[in-house]
Amino acid sequence: GATVVAGVAGNPVRHSLSPVLHNAWLEAAGLDGVYVAFCPPADNFERFANGLRGGAIRGLNVTLPFKEAALAVSDRATPRAETAEAANLLLFEADGTITADNTDGLGLLGAFAHQAPGFDARSGPVVILGAGGAARGAAAAFKEAGAPQVRIVNRTLAKAEFVAGALGVVGRAYALDASDEALSGAAAVVNATSAGLTNGGRLDVSLKATPEAAVIMDMVYQPLITPFLAEAQALGRRTVDGLEMLIRQAAPSFEAFFGRPPPESADVRSLALRALEQKT
Ligand code: NDP
Repeated sequence: GATVVAGVAGNPVRHSLSPVLHNAWLEAAGLDGVYVAFCPPADNFERFANGLRGGAIRGLNVTLPFKEAALAVSDRATPRAETAEAANLLLFEADGTITADNTDGLGLLGAFAHQAPGFDARSGPVVILGAGGAARGAAAAFKEAGAPQVRIVNRTLAKAEFVAGALGVVGRAYALDASDEALSGAAAVVNATSAGLTNGGRLDVSLKATPEAAVIMDMVYQPLITPFLAEAQALGRRTVDGLEMLIRQAAPSFEAFFGRPPPESADVRSLALRALEQKT
């Protein structure tokens, strides 16, 4: 058969680590495939995706700011993409249609399973900081995993109330200045805000109110140890990082593109860490 082509679409896409991960897996597996980065215009993802229908590309990972547009352009979507109201994976079928999926929830739970072994989402309330697309997906994943309560903390309370409302009886909403109340008794805390990024400002939350056994996770991975994770480690809490989530959401995408799970032999985490160092 022909070389299988897949890629990632984002704007900007220069900093994406997805090509590093997928190409290392391709090489280790000895597969005839390539994985490339695309930077479509920020205001017209639809035109870009429609142009790829029925053509030579097998699929795309989708990152900022296209996750909602990716779901909108698709002809069918998995329940988890519908729930997240966003897609990070598009498959271009031979009949010209597009299937949307979202593997971010798998990535999040996979990262917990790997870096916080024994963590059980059913053991107590889970706190999500933020109410954007990433927060929505995380909340849905923890609800699905059996969290008895999912607490949404957001700077803009109305958005937290909206996300918590969509979760039904397990959802609770908190303003940012009520974060101590939300953190008390928490089994896990996930930063799903963009605060901590170079342009995002600082996250005004203290982790002192968390129980000793709480697991703290940051979806942001640049730097790998964010101020948020540094505080968690200083308090002696177990932590999970955003790079592990990125790797664990990429694995099911690789399987969808290339027809087999990524080979265990490739140490993609070390490669990604090296690439991160070069980019900062
Ligand atoms: P959105 O822009 O949709 O949401 C941003 C959220 O951050 C909002 O809730 C916003 O609050 C909050 N926020 C921004 N700045 C601050 C601040 N200074 N203080 C408090 N809250 C703030 O982004 P996404 O949901 O798409 O992504 C969130 C983060 O998750 C990004 O950094 C992204 O890179 C990361 N991510 C990582 C993944 C991984 O695999 N590791 C996967 C997916 C996302 P408000 O509503 O008040 O504006």
